[in-house]
Amino acid sequence: MSESGLPCVEGLFSAEDGVATLHGSKCTGCNTPYFPRSEACHNPDCTGSNIVDFDFGGSGTLWSYSVADFPPPPPHKFDKPFAPYAIGVVDMECGLRLIGQMVDKAEDVKVDAKVELVIDTLYHEDDVAYSSWKFKQI
Ligand SMILES: [Zn+2]
Repeated sequence: MSESGLPCVEGLFSAEDGVATLHGSKCTGCNTPYFPRSEACHNPDCTGSNIVDFDFGGSGTLWSYSVADFPPPPPHKFDKPFAPYAIGVVDMECGLRLIGQMVDKAEDVKVDAKVELVIDTLYHEDDVAYSSWKFKQI
């Protein structure tokens, strides 16, 4: 749905054949997912902390959202002129609760909507598009 560009942070996510994947980790002792990667398990009930790399993706449900009506302060980057956008908090089916910008216009965003993880352009700099993960209502 968009130009692919370069990731805004290297190694955090990837997009292949239109499928968005987040590169995180998971504790094999208690199955707690982490994104970004964690070096240790932070579950106080876990006694068998063993962290392995784990890829996340797929869909989820929009738990809540907020609308950014004004430009974020540095070091955040955005295309000018600034356009308001919604930031969603999504309960992913894989067990993660993730924050991400919504592709949908803020006035169209609905709590409890089913959403999918996508990789989309975040901003342009020196004619290069930089991308990040976002959510899109399905
Ligand atoms: Zn654990």
